[in-house]
Amino acid sequence: MKDASLDEAEALAAASDVAPAGISAGPGLWPLTAAAQRTLAGPATVTGIGLHSGVDVTLTLRPAAADSGIWIRRADVTDRDPMIPARWDHVVDTRLCTTLGNAAGVTVATVEHLMAALAGLGVDNAELVVDGPELPVMDGSSAAFVALVETAGTIAQGAPRHAVRLVDTVTVEDGESVASLRPAPRGLSIDATIDFDSAAIGRQHRVVSVTPDSFRRDLADARTFGFRHEVEGLRAMGLARGGSLDNAVVVDGDAILNPEGLRHDDEFVRHKALDVLGDLALAGHPVIGAYSGHRPSHRLNNLLLRALFAQPQAWRFEPALSTAGAGDAARHAGDRRRA
Ligand SMILES: [Zn+2]
Repeated sequence: MKDASLDEAEALAAASDVAPAGISAGPGLWPLTAAAQRTLAGPATVTGIGLHSGVDVTLTLRPAAADSGIWIRRADVTDRDPMIPARWDHVVDTRLCTTLGNAAGVTVATVEHLMAALAGLGVDNAELVVDGPELPVMDGSSAAFVALVETAGTIAQGAPRHAVRLVDTVTVEDGESVASLRPAPRGLSIDATIDFDSAAIGRQHRVVSVTPDSFRRDLADARTFGFRHEVEGLRAMGLARGGSLDNAVVVDGDAILNPEGLRHDDEFVRHKALDVLGDLALAGHPVIGAYSGHRPSHRLNNLLLRALFAQPQAWRFEPALSTAGAGDAARHAGDRRRA
């Protein structure tokens, strides 16, 4: 894994020679406390089973230019446009997972756990090449995708990162589900509550302030879950053919069927928070705000982004500050000069 923070510190150090912290350093540069966009340092590939097809798919993460965002390319599609932008307005189905599609009708399913890993680790620009209609499910969490990004490494790019900052609260409801985004001073926090009749899950609540460290520690390894009767219903419809105890926590009544049990007592709500991060990543930029969701779903999260972007007065687009504050940046710059 390449050391991501060094590149950023280096860029800051170079810029600090020409302008004091917080002041725009001239054409082509940006305020010194702004964060740089990041992409992958190189390609990385993984193969795994598709949850619904049950067929192996190969996924390759590739670097992409600054300001391009995240795109998915269907390598197996050659007769139509194979490029699908990973954006909220290209979500075409949210029933079992988040599915993206383009104007040519080309789709890719189960994008949320990889999107969560990219957002959690601060990757702004990447091309995700896949040779089938869904991303591999791996173990049902983001853990394998975190490992994949770390294998590739990440690098800072010569452009400032921009964020969508909430300036007014946006709320959506969908049946018993409610979600809102409200203004917050910095970063993204996710407050999620779930409530299931099954005693194996019950009511769980968690608040996560999203950083690369908290994402790795608290969310990345939480697996998706489902109920045995639902899985059987999906199989009857020809779906979830790849679903097994290897890639989901399966609940039957009040029991958990996985022999290894849970990875965390509250693995279920951790996974919901992971899904929220992956769904909000489809904003196309980091979101600065506080998310709160009661019984969140992919559908609810997409409705929330649609409501947000339908209300231009509720948000503004602005340079994202580096997670290192101005003082930290200056200190890093000093360290580099002394070295
Ligand atoms: Zn999920």
